[in-house]
Amino acid sequence: MWQKDDRIRKSPLKFCVYYYSELEGDCQASIITELWPENFNLYSDEDGVKHIRIKARPNKWHENDCPFCHKSCPAYDKHSSKPTTWRGLDWGGILVEVEYQTHRIICLEHGVYVAKVPWAYPGSRFTKDFDLTVAWFASYLPRSTTSYFMRVDWETVGRCVNRALHDLEPERSRRLDGLVNIGIDETSYKKGHKYITVIVNHDTNTVVWASEGHGKSVLEKFYKQLTPEQLSSIKVVTGDGAKWITECVNEYNSFQNCLSYLGGIGYLINYIIFYLKYS
Ligand SMILES: [Zn+2]
Repeated sequence: MWQKDDRIRKSPLKFCVYYYSELEGDCQASIITELWPENFNLYSDEDGVKHIRIKARPNKWHENDCPFCHKSCPAYDKHSSKPTTWRGLDWGGILVEVEYQTHRIICLEHGVYVAKVPWAYPGSRFTKDFDLTVAWFASYLPRSTTSYFMRVDWETVGRCVNRALHDLEPERSRRLDGLVNIGIDETSYKKGHKYITVIVNHDTNTVVWASEGHGKSVLEKFYKQLTPEQLSSIKVVTGDGAKWITECVNEYNSFQNCLSYLGGIGYLINYIIFYLKYS
């Protein structure tokens, strides 16, 4: 959906509104239209943090929907006596919580699951707009800053991104369309015990592909998934002169007009490309 209109991508709130308005009819999953508030409670916890807890329920017509296929299914058991809460986007400095007593349904296709709640992704304890906002922040800010600002722990940021990923970028393969100037490099993590190979698009300054490991066999995975059109659009490849990069690029980018700047001056070429872009 982001690809449809780049202006949407520039604001998480605009994106949320756009995303929700894309869904149809009664399934329109806006926190405003789908969440039927019954009452609310304002309280402070033992650390003095203010919370507003909104007791809510889904639309009656959709309270037995499967969280995966969204079909209405027979109820499997009664509503739980212990309510579940979902963290929503803060209201000013106040933590927002949505409370509802869930129950399970039995879907012929998927089995027994907790019935879908329209304000959250399956299995999440955060509302959809919270997950989407964290994912948007994480795409522009360091994970630690996102965690600090959104008041969630570092690992939760990753889980929010995973849940929102499909909605934010339904066609991830489109990142590989129209590549012209790309860079290939590997980097290590876990104190040099593990490697990751990364391909960047120099024109957008974004990572377009990454895979665990390094070496020719890993880089070949990138090249093998490219369509002939995607391969032919690549005109400049930069790298650090590693033999496996040189070999792979020569093998796959061996078409006319391709310029492969490789060898010891790889970093310099990277520098020149960025210099031209920002000067
Ligand atoms: Zn189902």
